[in-house]
Amino acid sequence: MTIHLKNITMQFKDTVAVNRLNLTIPEGELVSLLGPSGCGKSTTLFMIAGLLTPTEGEIYFSGENVTKKSPEKRNIGMVFQNYALYPHMSVLKNIMFPLKMQKVPSNEAKKRAIEASKLVEIDHLLDRKPSELSGGQQQRVAIARAIVREPDVLLLDEPLSNLDAKLRLSMREEIREIQQRLNITTLFVTHDQEEALSISDHVVLMNQGKIEQFATPTEIYSEPTSLFAAEFIGSPPMNIFKDVSEAQLKALCPNVPFSNEIASIGIRPEDLLIKDDGLKVTVKLVETVGKDTLITVEHDHFKRFKLFVHKDEYIEQNGEYYVQVNPENMLIFDKEGQCIHH
Ligand code: ATP
Repeated sequence: MTIHLKNITMQFKDTVAVNRLNLTIPEGELVSLLGPSGCGKSTTLFMIAGLLTPTEGEIYFSGENVTKKSPEKRNIGMVFQNYALYPHMSVLKNIMFPLKMQKVPSNEAKKRAIEASKLVEIDHLLDRKPSELSGGQQQRVAIARAIVREPDVLLLDEPLSNLDAKLRLSMREEIREIQQRLNITTLFVTHDQEEALSISDHVVLMNQGKIEQFATPTEIYSEPTSLFAAEFIGSPPMNIFKDVSEAQLKALCPNVPFSNEIASIGIRPEDLLIKDDGLKVTVKLVETVGKDTLITVEHDHFKRFKLFVHKDEYIEQNGEYYVQVNPENMLIFDKEGQCIHH
């Protein structure tokens, strides 16, 4: 199922939550809606689900205009942040529920619910009540319930945010595996950029009700089209040098000619290297982060910035070093925050 949003707007009284948004979600892809709190991610998802009707614009499922169709008629499966399981029903009954609503005969509903529970590996828990399950297990029940009807579209609204860090990692891999096995068009809302980058075919980065960038994870990381995208994507964040002067640009990247168009420069911590000459800096902080060491350095004419060095390289706190930029991966932005060079 291909989902096409045509110029959709959602206005709540004086808040424009989604503003003339155009988007095509290709068949069988997992697409993440990513962005800061309040940018309109959930509102967009709810309009696709049919839980909200856009103030303006149209929604198409494989060419069919579904803008006015009720949620039940859209054949979607949905998983929410709080799972929304029925507390008084067993796991089996919870998973069977959507089929019961469709008046599928009990025997068949049970068979399909058991199949769905096997897919998410909770078939040994079918007699339990939701309160007798861990957070991760509840999440699996919610996923099984969402896929039991074999929906055309799967909508996930921050499905992992109630889980601890380790479980989040393994559940996101499982979601990706299930999505690929079922080849189901899936929309995944998250404010966690790492989560979005790791499991998506495409990422929709939203900002104030609009799309800032629609791109593959690799593209959005290495070729952000705006300062907003450059600052939002990446952990630790990209170093941004704002209002750079000609002298500063020369110090950072001697080979790039200055022009009045240049307002800011962005350099990721992995694109700065310690060398025998270059920009002289003092090391202020040394942090071990797994396979690399992250160091924070200071220079008289720049604010502090960060770079990675290999974990085997000894870096002295308060020591003086020279730093050079990998010019190929440097980003230049104009006054409007648009990327003009990468
Ligand atoms: P979060 O990550 O915090 O869940 P979000 O990106 O999902 O945020 P939305 O929930 O879509 O954001 O909200 C977008 C904007 O619309 C916000 O400013 C929000 O306050 C507003 N909004 C959402 N729902 C309603 C509503 N029912 N009535 C009024 N305003 C609303």
